[in-house]
Order: sequence, then C-alpha cells, then structure tokens
Amino acid sequence: MIKEKCVFLDRDGVLNEEIGRHIMHVDEFVIPADVPDGLKRLKAAGYRLVVVTNQSGIARGYYDEQVVVDCHEILQKACDNSLDHLYYAPLVDHISKSLMRKPDSLMLEKGMARFNVDPAQSWMIGDKERDLVPAKKLGVKAMQIMALVPETELADVRVHSFAEAVEVILSEQ
Ligand SMILES: [Mg+2]
Repeated sequence: MIKEKCVFLDRDGVLNEEIGRHIMHVDEFVIPADVPDGLKRLKAAGYRLVVVTNQSGIARGYYDEQVVVDCHEILQKACDNSLDHLYYAPLVDHISKSLMRKPDSLMLEKGMARFNVDPAQSWMIGDKERDLVPAKKLGVKAMQIMALVPETELADVRVHSFAEAVEVILSEQ
C-alpha cells in the first residue's frame, strides 16, 4: 500500500485569524485571503489535508460543539472541500486528561493511520510550540507561522504567512 503525504494544519492562527481568545461565534471566524487558494494548491499537489485543532472551549463551556462544526463547514466551502478530515480535541486537562489535545499526538496519529501517511513526506503547520511537539515526536516536518507568538526551537522552518508556507512545501518536491 502506497504511503501518502499529508499536511497537518492547526486551525486558529493558521487557517483563520487569531483573535487572542477562543472563537465563540462563527462571525469571529475570519479566513485570510491566501488560505483557500493555498489549500487548493496543496491538494492539487497530492497532499492529504488534515486539520488538528484544540477546542477546549467546548469543555470549558465557552461555546458548544456546533460552533466548531459550523466553522469547519465555512472552511470547507471556502476551499472547495479540499480538507480530507478535521479533528478537534474538545477536552481540557483539568477536566479530563486528553491524548487528543496538543501537545499530545493522538489527533496526528489518527490522521496518519486513517490515510496511511508517511511522516517523512509530511508537514505540520502551526503557530504555537504545542502544535509542533507532536510533529517532532512522529517525524513530521514542523513549520511555524509567526504572528504574535514566540519563536519555537522545534520549528524546522519559520514563515510569516500561509502563502509562504505553501511555497516552502511545494518548492520542496
Ligand atoms: Mg493556533
């Protein structure tokens, strides 16, 4: 069985604009202009696209699961259904220790099993260090999108926009 290549994607601060707190309403879910085209280009280049997002606001009672589902529908529409799967971790450790929640790696592991992913040909794009911890653990290349977040030593590559991230990945082939 042929192994597939995959780009794992953090959501907030990567696929939609970071607002400094949880997205609690679909109106707060703003997709940067370069994201839909970038996703479509990665898809056309043969990458599986898997979103892996911590959404502990669900367990914290800030918003319900439907908000996450609605945001993901908006995202899929924007990129012509380029996303193969979206995983979200609704729990938070003080309520229930979750292996799904980044920096743990279960969401990435699920994606790898589901699509028979070769980690060495794959990328994780995130803005925070905790996004890149599971990537390093699993042998997936780690890319950090810099915004108002501290630099992490775990990043193999640092970029300043989603469009730049896509260029790096596509130029590697
Ligand atoms: Mg983020």
